[in-house]
Amino acid sequence: MSEIMNNKIKNMLDTIRMEARMTASYTGRAAFDESVMQAMQDVDRGDFVPAIYRSQAYDNGPLPIGNGQTISQPYIVALMTDLLDVNADSIVLEVGTGSGYQAAILGKLVRQVYSVERISELAASSEKRLKQMGYENIHVRCANGYSGWQDKAPFDAIIVTAAASHIPQDLIDQLKPGGRMVIPVGLPYTNQTLMLVTRNEQGSTNIESVLGVVFVPLVDD
Ligand code: SAH
Repeated sequence: MSEIMNNKIKNMLDTIRMEARMTASYTGRAAFDESVMQAMQDVDRGDFVPAIYRSQAYDNGPLPIGNGQTISQPYIVALMTDLLDVNADSIVLEVGTGSGYQAAILGKLVRQVYSVERISELAASSEKRLKQMGYENIHVRCANGYSGWQDKAPFDAIIVTAAASHIPQDLIDQLKPGGRMVIPVGLPYTNQTLMLVTRNEQGSTNIESVLGVVFVPLVDD
């Protein structure tokens, strides 16, 4: 990798570290786990955005990925990944595959990633991209993620990368006792709230709000 590229990625990581410190009073996390930061360093975001945006791939902002959808800003990807508290044994569900970038970050950290995308073009292109990159533990399916991925449940962690109108009961049901879900909740194209849903060992659910965010809508059809 060229020195310019290395510097761009280093700057991206520094910006994530700084923003993590700045938002610590909301998120409770002044720094993200080193394994998460390592995954952010190892997965090249430039490989997941259209060629015309490649020069902006390491900026801390969202970018268009086609079909009216966006790849989230790197800080949000790192925060949501960190909040899941996953490890090498985790089985994770993602709703909203998009470009496959968030799935790739998770793919570096966990045993299996099951990712659901409702737009068939995006499901097909991200599945192909991830396969070409050699990820064998990421599985993409074209479906409405409001109902999760029943056959592969229960999950240690669930990450929803589009804003839901409410927390879907099917997703709560597919979370293992002790499991964690991060999900933005709110009206389309307004400020939404990133929520952390945890299930305790007895199966009861706790919901906390983490941070104001803006995501494309989770479409229920
Ligand atoms: N995680 C992605 C970004 C996702 S953008 C990445 O890393 O690139 C949100 C995605 O959620 C979009 O691709 C959108 O098509 C998808 N989406 C919206 N509603 C959905 C639903 N009900 N089920 C599955 N995917 C959905």
